[in-house]
Amino acid sequence: MLNNVKKNVSTSFPFLKSDRHFAHTQEIFDTVQTMNISQTLNFSILLILMELGNLISYWAVDIRSRLISPTSFAILIFLLYMGFNIFYCDYLLGLERNGRTRKLLQGHTYSFTIMFSLFCLCMNYLCLKGRMSAESVLLFYIYLAAGPIYTYKEALAAIVTTGALALPSFVAQKAPVSMYSNMFLYSFTSLFLSQMRCRITGNNLRLLREAWDEQVYLQDRADNDPLTQVLNRSGFSVRLEQLIPAAIQLYVPIAVIMVDIDYFKQYNDTFGHMAGDECLKKVAAALASRIHQGRDLICRFGGEEFQILLYGIKPEDALHAADRLRQAVADLKLPAADRRTAPYVTISVGVSSAVPSSMETYNGMIKAADDELYYAKNHGKNMVSFRELPPEKESVPNSVSVTRCIAVSCELPRS
Ligand code: GH3
Ligand code: MG
Ligand code: MG
Repeated sequence: MLNNVKKNVSTSFPFLKSDRHFAHTQEIFDTVQTMNISQTLNFSILLILMELGNLISYWAVDIRSRLISPTSFAILIFLLYMGFNIFYCDYLLGLERNGRTRKLLQGHTYSFTIMFSLFCLCMNYLCLKGRMSAESVLLFYIYLAAGPIYTYKEALAAIVTTGALALPSFVAQKAPVSMYSNMFLYSFTSLFLSQMRCRITGNNLRLLREAWDEQVYLQDRADNDPLTQVLNRSGFSVRLEQLIPAAIQLYVPIAVIMVDIDYFKQYNDTFGHMAGDECLKKVAAALASRIHQGRDLICRFGGEEFQILLYGIKPEDALHAADRLRQAVADLKLPAADRRTAPYVTISVGVSSAVPSSMETYNGMIKAADDELYYAKNHGKNMVSFRELPPEKESVPNSVSVTRCIAVSCELPRS
């Protein structure tokens, strides 16, 4: 449902398209829908008032021909529809929102637009047939005002063109002077209407944009770690819920990588916590820049630990990819506090690789990557320890380790 709503909003407002996951898109959509219905309601009231004014102004002149002409009949039907619309819109606005009522509200918007367009088509047909009357001119103008005219200049151009088309017919019909004055009045009313609609629409879009920006901002804060700007655990797990089922369904191999900075406590103790924070930021940025954006995921797992998920990577490639991450951090050449391993800040990396067959496989992969990280820590640090998990049905209880490759990485000179 959420995806449908998101699609609806982005189809109506293409410039708002975004790849992000919005939990409250529905609220935005509901707001827009309410605004649209309120506008329809106001518009119906305005049309009825205008037509009543028109009726009164002509009351004494030619009431008989007015009531029996096909144009009048069309107007009558339309007025009835509009009258019904007022009560119906009022009812719609009071409805509680759920899947069914949202569809109903949208159906209403569509039917209103279709009815209105059909009516305007009839009016145009009558105009072209030379049966143009004051009513048709009025409604044609209103149509222009209510139609897709959004700028002052566009509205003015449309009114001038329509006026120019209507005038010869008026002259041919030897229309009374009041008709010309009414035409003048209608032109300005429709101009005013189009401006009003333009402003309301512009305002709605601005409100929508603000709501959307607010949403992006809040979602960003909820999903990302404020220090390192990579995902936090909650943002990470939301994305995993989409990624892991896809991997299970398509038999895609994935790798889980656990990263921990070596001797980070000492780094803090030596250079201070502010420097420690800077170091964390740089390490996170180095790791994030080496993974495939949009396909792989990285999150700050806690303290100075990161978890990375590589999607669609073969076991043999996962080991090398993890070693490239280790190398990327070493290449930062941030001076180390403890120089037993290397003169620069380094990381230890635990990797597990498998084709997941369930969410449990994934949890098993985290455990395996954690064990490998522990192994790397205890065997000299600044290294990658790797394990490939067997396919679930072939696994023997208490035996998970199929291969263990250790990429010890001592390209950096030991001091
Ligand atoms: P090892 O090589 O075995 O990983 O040793 P270590 O000192 O890195 O490991 P330990 O888990 O003992 O220390 C982690 C340190 O990370 C402790 C804590 O002060 C520091 N730390 C955790 N979060 C932050 C943070 O947000 N900013 C800073 N500056 N330090 C942090
Ligand atoms: Mg550490
Ligand atoms: Mg740690």
